[in-house]
Amino acid sequence: MGFVYKKKLISPDELINTYPLSANDALIKKERDKQIKDVLVGASDKFLVIIGPCSADNEDAVCDYVSRLARVQEKVADRIIIIPRIFTNKPRTTGEGYKGIVHQPDPEGEPDLQEGLIAMRKIHLRAITETGLSAADEMLYLENWPYVEDLLSYVVVGARSVENQPYRLAISGMDCPAGMKNPTSGDFSVMLNSCAAAQVSHTFLYRGYEVRTTGNPLVHCILRGAINKHGQFVPNYHYEDLIRLHEMYEKRKLANPAVIIDANHANSNKMYYEQPRIVKEVLYSRSINRVIAKLVKGVMIESYIEPGNQSIHEHVYGKSITDACLGWKESERLIYTIAEHV
Ligand code: PEP
Ligand code: MN
Repeated sequence: MGFVYKKKLISPDELINTYPLSANDALIKKERDKQIKDVLVGASDKFLVIIGPCSADNEDAVCDYVSRLARVQEKVADRIIIIPRIFTNKPRTTGEGYKGIVHQPDPEGEPDLQEGLIAMRKIHLRAITETGLSAADEMLYLENWPYVEDLLSYVVVGARSVENQPYRLAISGMDCPAGMKNPTSGDFSVMLNSCAAAQVSHTFLYRGYEVRTTGNPLVHCILRGAINKHGQFVPNYHYEDLIRLHEMYEKRKLANPAVIIDANHANSNKMYYEQPRIVKEVLYSRSINRVIAKLVKGVMIESYIEPGNQSIHEHVYGKSITDACLGWKESERLIYTIAEHV
């Protein structure tokens, strides 16, 4: 019964000093952050493509994947900003299964949080160092933020967390664009309330301190589909959904209205191969309605080297051990298609 305090973990300062971001890479990241911010505040018409595996389970495979993205990024740089999805913390529907590299640096091993924190920082750092692409991660464990805050260019609050106060308050202090997903129930007002809460200043308890935050004006929405009371998937990427979100934004005083469409999860009914069709539909909706074009600032795609997914014990290189992902070939083609239509 109760908590067992197993060991005191490395501090953010110690970890950052052991694995620092070079001054040159920090400059590259600063320039990227500026470009991403320009999209979210409406100063740039570029389109965000947040793309990568459901879970970043293996440093070599993820960095190989991100290096492929970097080659594509160069070719589409005038239209698209690619933000690799390097998700190190995984929420699980029943609490069972792989919880991400920060929990289990070896997916088949026991949880090891000390090694996990190191693995989380190393994978983000290596991606930036090797490719110049700073990534998106889900902020599931809010106390992890100081370990990677100099490395991340985008954070996500997941569908199971978005209704909860600690996330809203902590995001209000993160100097980084943050996407609030719609909750699994699909209620847009929960997501917009979350944006409202995170855009203003709060005072609260964080990492053993009383802290005050500035408020985060770059907080916006992510639509990931919903599940109804019969357990059926209800997509929310269609034209009518986007208009409805626009109308709801209009009624509120929120800074920088924006939405990213997550093409997998309850939008694809987890049929990963539907993602290209879903993204193309969103691009079509943007092309016929200027309001939608302005509101929809990007897409999120679950993609890895191999298509589909596998059990943890199969060891296929570059294949997801959580949600099924689009394979590299289809993903590359999709990015070029997006570039032609934005
Ligand atoms: C994910 O992005 O892999 C994820 C778990 O998303 P959601 O919070 O929308 O279920
Ligand atoms: Mn997923």
